Amino acid sequence: MQDCIFCKIINKEIPNYTVYEDSHVLAFLDITPRAKGHTLVIPKVHAETLLDLNEEIAKELLPAVQKVMNRMEAVLKPDGYNVGWNHAEAGGQVVPHVHIHVLPRWNGDGGGNMHSIVDSASDVDVAEVARLFG
Ligand code: 5GP
Ligand code: ZN
Repeated sequence: MQDCIFCKIINKEIPNYTVYEDSHVLAFLDITPRAKGHTLVIPKVHAETLLDLNEEIAKELLPAVQKVMNRMEAVLKPDGYNVGWNHAEAGGQVVPHVHIHVLPRWNGDGGGNMHSIVDSASDVDVAEVARLFG
């Protein structure tokens, strides 16, 4: 997509520090990293969110994440990772081209975990929600 910053990175109109690349996926260092080696994994086709992405391309993403993590194991040797993505405005997504954050973690780095993203369900009845899913 013409005005998409990540499409411009894919088209090499904007430079990037590539960590891993194949025919469907590009992984590159985040320009404002929250951890050493913070990497973004993106499909080479434009899709705003995972739900807009062709299923065949979606299948390429997790093996690419695994390859990125294998590279990190060799280069940075972190103690752990957080891997995930912000989906839509409510989920904190800023760049409208689906991207998976791979955040290397080190013991004692002061960061949180998935549970520190949100905590808004203290009065939710889980059994009631389960009924909605049938
Ligand atoms: P979001 O908040 O949408 O999940 O994350 C967008 C991420 O893209 C941010 O972490 C931000 O630092 C990164 N980012 C934005 N523009 C650029 C860019 O031009 N180059 C690179 N390498 N990262 C970018
Ligand atoms: Zn794009």
